Amino acid sequence: MATGYVWHELYGWHDTGTNAGLLPGNLVMQPYLHFESPESKQRFHSLVEVSGLAAHLVRIEPTQVSDEDILRVHTAEHLARIQRESMQPRGGDAGDGTSPFGHRGFEIAALAAGGAWAALDAVLNDRVQNAYALVRPPGHHARPETGMGFCIFANASIAIRKAQSVDPNLRVVTVDWDVHHGNGTQAVFWEDPSVLTISLHQNDLFPRNSGAITEIGAGAGQGYAINVPLPAGTGNGGYLATLTDVVVPAIRKHRPDVIVVPSGFDASCFDPLGRMSVTTTGYREMTRILMDVANEVCGGRIMMTHEGGYSPTYVPLCGVSVLSELSGVHVDVIEPLYETYDTMPEHELIPSQMAVIEQVRELHAL
Ligand code: ZN
Repeated sequence: MATGYVWHELYGWHDTGTNAGLLPGNLVMQPYLHFESPESKQRFHSLVEVSGLAAHLVRIEPTQVSDEDILRVHTAEHLARIQRESMQPRGGDAGDGTSPFGHRGFEIAALAAGGAWAALDAVLNDRVQNAYALVRPPGHHARPETGMGFCIFANASIAIRKAQSVDPNLRVVTVDWDVHHGNGTQAVFWEDPSVLTISLHQNDLFPRNSGAITEIGAGAGQGYAINVPLPAGTGNGGYLATLTDVVVPAIRKHRPDVIVVPSGFDASCFDPLGRMSVTTTGYREMTRILMDVANEVCGGRIMMTHEGGYSPTYVPLCGVSVLSELSGVHVDVIEPLYETYDTMPEHELIPSQMAVIEQVRELHAL
């Protein structure tokens, strides 16, 4: 079966305005792009096309999710505020002052959640084996009551809740490999044992004081949130060990019907917002490990939905590497110069990383 792929030109039109990185353009510094600009994602899509990969993928057309779908996860106040600000001539902000959106940004945010849903629906109905939703704005920081961290609506969570409205018995594991903590996804399913949320992230990066090992869920959901806060500098060795020693046994234990991956490429060695060192080879191998365990427990069903990743020149290579592995279609886009990054010393698994992995295994009896 084939690999599904979601992209819509409007994802590139989500307008985060003129900023100098995170700073608003207000004469503090010459205005430039917001970190969360269209660059990395549009160029990812361009490479999917130009590499020839697109011809082998099943294109899935997204449509906006409904207000009812958004309310499966978010409060009525959050939805109403986003819709109201979206009608302002200059748009608004998702909630934390660093997550701007332009006029009619609501519709693009609803289309991003709709992209995650369309991909998940195609996987669950066996129209494709697995799928990648290259959506924008991202979603994994958005909490029920607010957006934050460049996210407006919780794309993956909305897709999962909508799928559960069709099949109330649906069991899911989320594997968030964005460099930042998947705090929003965790918050949505905090007391829900049907969705095991796993987040691999740089220790105490964003949000601050979020994503500690001791955050494990509550009530009926106690034990159904797993956090792996890896030390800054972690490369392929630490990430692959986390996949093998934490993620795979947790998936075997939970036995989901589908694996959902909030996929950010900001743990890459070239990212301006993370301090990790994962390479395209690392992402490809992480994908392989997930595919193997998915074949074992859930008929190979994986849906990835795009989150962060802020290197306009490296995110496309990471994304195409993952899509190449997911689809089994080999494309050659990695130049020898970049292959040298695979042999750098930070890829060695070191004791500080092993200690985190061991603590998580012990706490969750993996
Ligand atoms: Zn991120």
